[in-house]
Amino acid sequence: MELIQKLEILADAAKYDASCASSGGARRDSRSGRGIGSTGGMGICHSYAPDGRCISLLKILLTNFCQYECHYCINRNSSNVTRARFTVDEVVQLTLDFYKRNYIEGLFLSSGIIQSPDYTMEQLVFVARDLREKHDFRGYIHLKTIPDADGDLLAQAGRYADRLSINMELPTQHTLAALAPEKDHRTIKRSMARIHVREEEAKEDAKKCKEKPSVSAPSDGSGRRRKAQRFAPAGQSTQMIIGADDSNDTTILKTSAELYAGFRLRRVYYSAFSPIPEASISLPAKPAPLLREHRLYQADWLLRFYEFSPQDIFSATEGSGMLPLDIDPKLAWALNHRDQFPVDLNRASKEQLLKVPGIGVKTVKQLLRIRRWQKIKLQDLISLRAGVKKAMPFIVCADHHPGTRDFSSGDLRGRLAAPAAQMALF
Ligand code: SF4
Repeated sequence: MELIQKLEILADAAKYDASCASSGGARRDSRSGRGIGSTGGMGICHSYAPDGRCISLLKILLTNFCQYECHYCINRNSSNVTRARFTVDEVVQLTLDFYKRNYIEGLFLSSGIIQSPDYTMEQLVFVARDLREKHDFRGYIHLKTIPDADGDLLAQAGRYADRLSINMELPTQHTLAALAPEKDHRTIKRSMARIHVREEEAKEDAKKCKEKPSVSAPSDGSGRRRKAQRFAPAGQSTQMIIGADDSNDTTILKTSAELYAGFRLRRVYYSAFSPIPEASISLPAKPAPLLREHRLYQADWLLRFYEFSPQDIFSATEGSGMLPLDIDPKLAWALNHRDQFPVDLNRASKEQLLKVPGIGVKTVKQLLRIRRWQKIKLQDLISLRAGVKKAMPFIVCADHHPGTRDFSSGDLRGRLAAPAAQMALF
């Protein structure tokens, strides 16, 4: 098979993995059988580097042959798709060629399981190793790791890759067992724990190497201070498929919160289920709404950056277990906790400010800074480009106080909900 044909097949096969892409990308339509990659041409997707830069990655599978039978996956063993397999050298060469032409800044590499998890993982490691050691490749490498692979292979993967990820796939063991019989959450979490331990060891080592030279300072034997061990500096991430099983948003976010707390994951990606050809009858016939995926990302953001606890988020589901679609989770929380508002922008704590709808983390920082020397007015919020319309019913400032009638009125939700046209975008 020509290399270009392999590229078409294996870039297309990789598009289902959201764990390197930004949220809100173009709609993935699995049934069209057209298009390569989820957000760009020829397997190139966009992702965000740890410093927030948007980078282009060559996103491909090493192979779409697979021994496993995950019902939700187009590459499962029983699937009738055209199969292809790159050699290690082909992936290395493609990456270098794309990189030299300035098409990409890095590689996202995943694979179906061939021969054994260890063999597959070894092939992925060989690609990263050859790029780094033979070709001095300095670009970004994200390797998808195989959960059952040996710990030593994970350690090697972390030495060469910037980011490692292991897909959680589904939020509960029960549904994972039903839809992906060869996978289980214990193995996945064991691999996440191994990666986490290595990350911590690398951080400790980096600290030791930065310490002032002393008799006990690590050296490479020549008396010079040695370089710190390198292990996946961009951390680890995972992905969960949304809507392939009947787990509600509370269950999904509870799993995410556990993963963030237990393994210090950098990101949990949510991928709205999209029907695949000749799908198992245990899967829904319709795609999950992209708006649900979007609301989960918003809630995830609140957990990580807005000091919301999992309980706060769950209370935004109003007992249904599902985040509302017409309003964002922060607004839902605020409407359910009206006793905690209005918040005085000139006196409130950082934690209280972070809970105000329409006001983001950056705005909170700026407000805390500005109010040291002047009273905050509505114009300040406008200048900081905050969501003033959304914030107004929830705040007090030097020239604004929401009317009691206005704030307690039942149609506040209706007035602040996203317009129908905006909802239709999802
Ligand atoms: S292991 Fe499962 S999800 Fe991964 S390629 Fe194979 S069938 Fe698909």
